[in-house]
This record gives sequence, structure tokens and C-alpha cells, in this order.
Amino acid sequence: MSSPVRHYVGGRFDASGVPFPLIDPVFGRPAGELPAAPRELVDRAVRAARDALRGPWASWSPAERSRMLHRIADGIEQRFEEFVAAECADTGKPRDLASTIDIPRAIANFRSYADLTAGRSEQSWHTTTPDGRGALNYTVHKPLGVVAVISPWNLPLLLLTWKVAPALAMGNTVVAKPSELTPGTACLLAEVMAEAELPAGVFNLVHGGGADAAGQWLTEHPGIDAIAFTGESRTGGTIMRAAAARLAPVSFELGGKNAALVFADADLEQAVAGTLRSAFTHSGQVCLCTERVYVERPVFDAFAQGLAAGAKELSGYGPMISAAHRDKVLRYIDRAAADGDVLAGGGVPRFSDGRDGGFWVEPTVLTGLPEDHPAVREEIFGPVVHVAPFDTEEEALGLVNASPYGLAATVWTGDVSRAHRVAPALDVGIAWVNTWNLRDLRTPFGGVKASGIGREGGDHSLDFFSEPMNVCVKL
Ligand code: NAD
Repeated sequence: MSSPVRHYVGGRFDASGVPFPLIDPVFGRPAGELPAAPRELVDRAVRAARDALRGPWASWSPAERSRMLHRIADGIEQRFEEFVAAECADTGKPRDLASTIDIPRAIANFRSYADLTAGRSEQSWHTTTPDGRGALNYTVHKPLGVVAVISPWNLPLLLLTWKVAPALAMGNTVVAKPSELTPGTACLLAEVMAEAELPAGVFNLVHGGGADAAGQWLTEHPGIDAIAFTGESRTGGTIMRAAAARLAPVSFELGGKNAALVFADADLEQAVAGTLRSAFTHSGQVCLCTERVYVERPVFDAFAQGLAAGAKELSGYGPMISAAHRDKVLRYIDRAAADGDVLAGGGVPRFSDGRDGGFWVEPTVLTGLPEDHPAVREEIFGPVVHVAPFDTEEEALGLVNASPYGLAATVWTGDVSRAHRVAPALDVGIAWVNTWNLRDLRTPFGGVKASGIGREGGDHSLDFFSEPMNVCVKL
């Protein structure tokens, strides 16, 4: 970490709290400390956010908020290299990922919600009345109030700003808690907010863990009006119970066990290349990554061999986020190796330098496991993909849809009719055809079943972060 990790509460930076060690995942060595916020600081952050709701921020027009979001985007742009360095230091991800995806997307998040909120119109209806004079109804979108934003370690800035930007766009105030493993870019974001002169208390940042720490204290806090969370499905369940006590609305982006379907009529080279990307981007630590591939039997061998050969050639990938996560991924691989076949990877790469102390796992391709095997059914969240054959379209759909998760899926086919038949029949929130992770920020984003509640993206986020109110005026 280049600069100390600090909270940002009521417009002031603060480093109070019990130190929590940060570990560089590339080398597995200490990389600084995070101050875990005491409960008193979490209370203060919520109070600051509540006070700010009654301050000048309350009267800012959508156009003024839009200009502020653009100013924040400008601020990230001006410090682009610092953000890239902090993202890489925290996560160990390759520089090209951080500089082409994470930081540009964070900027785009602010710009797209700035534009959307500035151009948003309210609905109105004319109603007839018995006296013939009528009435005018119009909808006003009000902020929800103080929103808790809790985010994970895999795309720390991208996912944090994906919620903070629309929350601010609709006039809310925010208390954000990033993952305790990756605090760096959130600290820089707080500095950018301060430099942009966002009114004190509108954006607050507290660091710390989840259970029995800042995360839990925030979700249980009576001063929090809504919770936007991205993370594991199990954590989502815990947060939902906390929110239920006071009926606070939640927006959840949770885990996945995403599948790809490869039909025999697909461009096989494109399907292999696309699946290499979808399985191994950020070493599989993206919620949208493919962990199951079902391949139509006539092309199964060619596809599996192509994928395994590609996986063996991959280089320049990053480590797992922590020793604990690396061990979890290796446990899945070991069990799969005992029960099935490993076509590529399956171990820990050797570098013969300092990286051998880091948390690395080879890109791994498995096959031959039954559908109820933990490596096929549970989210691994690492560079591990299982390939299995299928014979009919119906069977393939059944295999994909049998998962308890339903975030994303990809269909590889050269048959346009099949694409339009199969994609909408998948029990997921996001389906791609002949591509992966192609995102337009205005489209709905989220999962079904254990993969989430609600949708983010474009108007979907603006709707979540606001309360529509009807005004009826008798004319
Ligand atoms: P996690 O659930 O362990 O932690 C996420 C955040 O929640 C962290 O900030 C953590 O401190 C906090 N937290 C943990 N326990 C809490 C509690 N009891 N109360 C309040 N806060 C708590 O998840 P993670 O390991 O950081 O991230 C990986 C998971 O996130 C994977 O399951 C992945 O699929 C999911 N994810 C989903 C999406 C999506 O868009 N659907 C995107 C990225 C990651």
C-alpha cells in the first residue's frame, strides 16, 4: 500500500481502530495495515450521513448532482495511475486488467449515472373527474436516505462505484464499507470526493471486517435506510436477516456457478477462445466467470482438448486474493482430481522467485465429474472449469438450470434460431450469445435464485436508490 488506509467520516479522514494486517497476494508478504473501525466510528459515519441529508445536499437539483458526478469521474481520471497501482497492490491482478477494466469502468459508472440522472423525466397522468375539471398526477422520485454500500474484494473499485454513483445520483447519502482485503482504491475515491468538494457527510467510508465488525454494525444500524451489497450468497442471507428487522430494502448481487453451452454448430475456435477468457479472467475471480461448460457430444473432445491446451499456455494471470481462498480452491481441485480427470493445471505454478510465497493456482480444466460433485455444483471462484458432454438441447438446458445459482450463462452457436430459443430459456439474469462479459451499463444486471435480488444498471439502479411518490393535484 502506498498511503495509509483511512476512514472518511463527515468530511474528515480518520485512522482510528485496531490494526488488521494487509497481505500482498503476489508475494504473500505484509503490505501494510487497515484500521478496523470501532463501533463508535460506524455510528458517527451514519450520523454524518443523516445530518448531510438535511444539509445543502438535499436541495441540489439533478443537474447539480450530475455535474458533481462528472467532477468525481474527472478526479479519478486525473489520478488514474494511482488508482491502477492501488488496485494492483490490493488484488495482485495484472496491470492490463486494472487499467483497461477496473479503473475505466469506475469512471464510466460516474459518467453514465451523471448523464442518466440529468436526462431523467418524471411521469405524469391526467385523470378525469366527475366535475369535469380533472386532476394531474405526477411522480416525484425521492432519495431513500442513508444507504450502506458493502462490496467485495474481486473488483473493489468497479463494484463500489457501481452502487455509490447511482445512490448519489438520486440524492442519497452513503456509508461505504469495502472489503477488508482491498481498501486502497476506496481510500483514493474518498480523497477524490473531498477534492471535488462533495458536501461533508454525503459520502462516508469505514473500513473493517464483516461479521461482528463494521459490515454487520452497518447492516444492523437503525440509521441505515437501505443496503446495497455485492458478495457471497451466504453473506447476503445474513444481511437480509439484519435488514428484515426494520424492513430496510436490499439490493443483492451474489454468487454464481455460471455455465456455458457449446453447440456443435458453433465456431469452435471462437468458443474455445471465449471460454478461456470467461473461465480465467482475473483467475476466475469474477462473479460472471464460467465454471461449468456443457459441450454437444460430436465436438466435445475437440473442444476439451482446445480448452486444455489454451489453459496450459496461459501466462500473465494473477494470484488468488488470500492464502485462505487459495487453500479453498485447491481443496476443490484435489477432491475433483480424486473423483474425475484433470485435463490442465491442477496445481500451484512454480516461479523460482518471490512469487512462490504468493497465493497462486494454475488455470485448471476438469472433466468426468458427476453433476452433484461439489466442484460442479458449488461456486469455487477460482481458475477452475469443468467440461461435460450433452446430447440434446433439452438436456443442456436442464443441466444449466439445475443449479441453485442463476447469475449468467453463455451460449455458443452458429444457429440464430437456436440462440433466440435457448438464451431466454436459461434461468439466469444475464445471457450472452457468442460473447462473454459484453456490458452496456444501461441494461439490467443481476441474478436469479441464489445469485441475487433486484437489478442494477441504468434506470434499474436509479429506481432502487429512490422512492417514487405520487402527487395528485385537483384542477
Ligand atoms: P463476502 O460475502 O465474504 O464479503 C463481501 C463484503 O461483505 C465484504 O466487504 C465483507 O467484509 C462483508 N461482510 C462479510 N460478512 C458480513 C456480514 N455478516 N455483515 C455485513 N457485511 C459482511 O464476499 P467476498 O468473498 O468478498 O466476494 C466474493 C463473492 O462475491 C463471490 O461469491 C462472488 O460471486 C460474489 N460476487 C458477486 C458479484 C455479482 O455481481 N453478482 C460480483 C462480484 C462478486
